[in-house]
Amino acid sequence: MYIAISTIIFLIIIVSAILFYISVKSFYKKKSNNIPVEYLQSMNYLLSEQHDKAIDTFMSMVSVNKDTAETHIILGNLFRNRGEVDRAIRIHQNLIARPELKPEIRQQCSIELARDYLKSGFLDRAELIFTRLSYEIENPAQVLHHLKEIYEQEKEWKKAIDIAERIQSITNEDMSDVISHYYCELAEDEIVLTSKENLDIAKKYTNKALGYNKNSLRALILLGDISFENKNFTDALKRYMSIFDSNPNFSYLVLDKVKKTYDNLGTKENFFSFVKSLSKIKNPMELYSNLSNVLPTNINNKELSDLYDSEFEKGKASLTLLSKYINLIEQNKIAFDNKSLNNIKKCLNSHSNKESRHECINCGFNSIRHFWQCPSCHQWSSISKSLLNKSKNDHYVV
Ligand SMILES: [Zn+2]
Repeated sequence: MYIAISTIIFLIIIVSAILFYISVKSFYKKKSNNIPVEYLQSMNYLLSEQHDKAIDTFMSMVSVNKDTAETHIILGNLFRNRGEVDRAIRIHQNLIARPELKPEIRQQCSIELARDYLKSGFLDRAELIFTRLSYEIENPAQVLHHLKEIYEQEKEWKKAIDIAERIQSITNEDMSDVISHYYCELAEDEIVLTSKENLDIAKKYTNKALGYNKNSLRALILLGDISFENKNFTDALKRYMSIFDSNPNFSYLVLDKVKKTYDNLGTKENFFSFVKSLSKIKNPMELYSNLSNVLPTNINNKELSDLYDSEFEKGKASLTLLSKYINLIEQNKIAFDNKSLNNIKKCLNSHSNKESRHECINCGFNSIRHFWQCPSCHQWSSISKSLLNKSKNDHYVV
């Protein structure tokens, strides 16, 4: 049903475009009523769903003027929007090959051809055309945005930085957060290589990122990561801890890093005190959102231990529960053994993806994982935990 309706709409648009062309033409040139016969033929083929024959007839037209060129472009775009990119490319390529085409029409058609390539995944071809056009046309903002999209997909961060700066200088659009993310991407690429030189370069990139956005949470975390890789665990810990103050809503992103750092410092027990201290925070993120607070009073240690084990088994243990669990270990009510250590580890591992989902404030995309760039709308810094975005007065009932 959907296909039938979309096909009908598609045909109506094509036929109207052609009729419009014919009426304009006959209005201005009453004497020479020379409607190209190919137009009527191709219209016939379109109506009978013979798209390739329609395109062949259309492209066989001997001469192309401004009006017919626009109809070519529209027809190609419609095929592209329907997902028939091969046909769109054929139409747009054929038009560009016409020697009689005016420069501005050729530019317009080149943009559409590059969009066809972009849609069909020929990023290098799209890049070539967009790059050339970005220097040729008067207002290249749109073209530059396409190039930015291509470099993001190709993870060509340095080129993306150049383009973002060009966009900023042409349009005054604030690209500082985006550029800051590009530098973070460059830094991350260096950090995974782990050598001293790579870490030094990573640090330079991270500082650049902070130059563009001094509050960049991502860059602040990266500085901790760089110290960690440099085995400067005390400094790493200090930097991770600072996230709990500066960005409490995102502290779950560094919790596991804090644990690893304590492990490397050989002071696991300090991590337990740290987790305990989290429960004292006045507004402790969403960490306590699904806490089951009810504990029976007259319960022996074995039962207590089993009760907690089953909670951890279910994978639903919140950090508050973990904190209480650690308290009980301290009070010798639960044994500090492999079993309890495993519970703690499992809880921390599952914590970030069990408590809530991440949501993009721009397009509503949601996922278990956190992304710096939304995979759906490609906005940067738009994703955070969805539970946190809901106010307490949120009265939606699902
Ligand atoms: Zn989004």
